[in-house]
Formats: sequence, structure tokens, C-alpha cells
Amino acid sequence: MTSSRTKTQEFLDVSRTFEPDCMNWQAPVVWDHASGAEIWDVDGKHYIDWTSGVLVANVGHAHPLLAKALAGQAARLLNTFDFPTPERLLLAETVVKAAPAHLDKVIFLTTGSEAMDAAMRLAKRFTGKFEIVSFWGSFHGRTFGPMSLSGIPKIRRNYGPLVPGTILAPYPYCYRCPFDKTHPQCDLFCLGFLDQLVGVESSGSLAAVIVEPYQGTAGFVFPPPGWLKKLEAWAKGQGLLFILDEVQSSFGRTGKMWALEHEGLEPDILVLGKGIGSGAPIAALVTRSSIISCLERGEMSSTLGGNPLSSAGALAVFEIIEKEGLVDKAARTGAYLKGKLLALKDKHEWIGDVRGMGLVYGIEFVLDRGTKAPAPDLAKDVVLRCVERGLMVGKLGLHGNVMRVAPPLVITSDLIDRSVAILDGVLSDVR
Ligand code: PMP
Repeated sequence: MTSSRTKTQEFLDVSRTFEPDCMNWQAPVVWDHASGAEIWDVDGKHYIDWTSGVLVANVGHAHPLLAKALAGQAARLLNTFDFPTPERLLLAETVVKAAPAHLDKVIFLTTGSEAMDAAMRLAKRFTGKFEIVSFWGSFHGRTFGPMSLSGIPKIRRNYGPLVPGTILAPYPYCYRCPFDKTHPQCDLFCLGFLDQLVGVESSGSLAAVIVEPYQGTAGFVFPPPGWLKKLEAWAKGQGLLFILDEVQSSFGRTGKMWALEHEGLEPDILVLGKGIGSGAPIAALVTRSSIISCLERGEMSSTLGGNPLSSAGALAVFEIIEKEGLVDKAARTGAYLKGKLLALKDKHEWIGDVRGMGLVYGIEFVLDRGTKAPAPDLAKDVVLRCVERGLMVGKLGLHGNVMRVAPPLVITSDLIDRSVAILDGVLSDVR
């Protein structure tokens, strides 16, 4: 490497040469190491983290307890396939005991997509039916099953024919209500519409409803209070399985251990990922024995599912969350952060909407508050300037105009003050 160029430039050249362009756009930073809610790049530049990777590092980056558990396990035993290990069994017990009481079985997989795929297969096997209701704006993963459920046009486009049986219904994106209605005067009109839509579209083989407690990839879209509970009641009234995709909303992210606690939801299948390993690759499908007992021996398993390394990591994650009171902390620091973000909204006209709870917020940028015209270029500019000034952020959303605010749950109020000041400064500069 020549000395006149930064390490970042050199590495980005390697990326351009050897990696395809199909991964998500990110600001040009090459991460080197991280600790808690702080990151350093390969040139030693420091950042405050508002990404948690992609809502993964809930317990903070490189937590010493997690690092120790992983290192110890790596030196002991890495793979057994489906042979049980103490780590996997203890983790199974821990997950089931922490999950809502009506769920009593768990199977571990490796990624959120794989676990969502498993949930789809289980729903079809258990009900003997094949139609699944999912939502506009939904994202459940990149493998073919979950991808077919997605209500994001650019994820579906060019991949047809998709897995048959998906019925897509509008999700309550209240800031941009597809029916041009306003909550609460709308009286959850979209749910009545869903009932009609499904009545027309279903061929009579409905198996399940699959939903995110809030939509992540669509731009951190939170449904109004009561919507999920009513959806659940509708699904159960129709005899459908109610499947909750908590791949990103669990492990304290929303200020509760599970997002389902906000409304006392009782899903038939609960899918977990990301934060469960806080970086160790693991996902889980939690359900009732009366459902999963329909599968025969050997019907569901995975080479790396519940491997000892990830299981040891996930056990450490539970321990850290408990010891450090991270769920309550996320609720408390989240309220503090939300106040600051709402104050930024009052100050900067580019911000059309701020929404979220706990430590997950979306800041939606618009060109004009009246027309709500999305401002994806502005959002990109803001992200780049924030990163330049030491705040690690990303953007997403159906219109590419939503900034992700999802720091590790260990973020301190001092780091929140400093990071909000960076965003405030950037927003004051952009014109
Ligand atoms: N479901 C949801 C709600 C997600 O946010 C994601 C990942 N963004 C997935 C499923 C897929 O998880 P993975 O990338 O681990 O396959």
C-alpha cells in the first residue's frame, strides 16, 4: 500500500475490485473495531454508533462477557450438528422461560431469513393450507420464501414467479396512509379493508398471517396502538396462525424484552434473530408443542442452527441484558433520545416525521412538510455529513428517505447528547 492514501481508500479499492455492488449502500467507512456504542475505522477515526450494525449489537459492540464466552467456546467445541450440547440446551431453556408462557418449544437456526422460512414451512405443514397474509412494506428476509412475502416492490421485482399464496394487505403507515385517512378518526379502516381484501383474494386455503411489530426496512413504520392486537384477533377468528417476526424488534430494542409485550400479543409462532446473538450468528423459532409436533423427525434442522459457539454467545447476551438491566435502560435512554429527536423536528423543516419507541427511531426527511414529498437525496447527504463528523448512521425506507436511529442499548446520555448535536449541526448546514 502507498503511504499517501488512507487505509480506508485502499480497502475500498479492494472492495470495488472483488465485491459486487449488490449489497446495501453505506457511507464509505471501513470499520476496524468497536466498543459499546463507539466505533473506530481502519484509520483510527472515531464514531458514535446509531446503527448497532443492523440492529444486531444490542448489548454493545465487543462486550467483554460476550467476547469471553465466544473465545472460551471457540477453544472447546464448535460444531456437533444436531447432537445436543449443554450450551444449546441451556439456551433452549432460557429462551422458552423468557418467552410468553404459552410458547414452550424452540428450534435454533442461523439467520432471520432462515427462521422466517422455517415459520412459513411450519405454518403450511400444520394447517395443510398454503396462503399467507403479509403486508405492504414488509421485510422478512432474502431467501425465496420470506422474499415472496415482502411488500417492498424492489425486493419482489424481477424474481417472479414468487412462492404462490401470498396475499399482501396495507400496513398502517399512518404518516402516508394509503387511504388518505387520519388516525384515530380512521377507526383502523385498514383492518376492515384487509378483511374484504382477503375475502376476495383467498382461494380458501389460508394458513397464517405474518407481521412485523413495526416495519424496519420500510422505514421504521410503527402501527397505531391496538392495531396489532386487533389483527391478531382477526387472524385467530379466521382460524389462521398468527406469526410475529421479531427478528429485529426483540431483545430490548423497543424498551421491552419482546415488542409483543406492548400489546400483550400471543403469537402462535415467534421468530427471533439479530439481537439474540448480538453478533453471534443465530436465530430462533419459538412456538407451541401442539403446533411443531406436526413435523416428523428430521424435517427441520440446519447445519449451524444452535451451534455451540452461537449458543454460548446467546447465553451471554441473556446474562448481560439481565445483569445490566438493558431493557429498562433502553426504555429510559430511549425516552431521553426521543425527546431530543422531537426537538430537532420542531427546529428543522426537513424532518417530516419522527417515530419509534425504546431505542429504535426513524427520522423521515421530506422536501416539504405539506406535500410530504420524500427527500432521499437530502437523506443521503445528511447521512454522509453525519458520518464525516463522527456519527455512524444509515438510511432506509420505502422512499430511501428515512434515517435509522438504533444505537446499541448501552448508549449513554452523554453519547446521545454528542450524537444529537452532530445531527443538529448537519441539519443546520444543509440547504
Ligand atoms: N425479518 C426482519 C423483520 C428483519 O429486519 C430481517 C433483517 N433485516 C430479517 C427478517 C432477515 O434476517 P437476516 O438478514 O438475518 O436473514
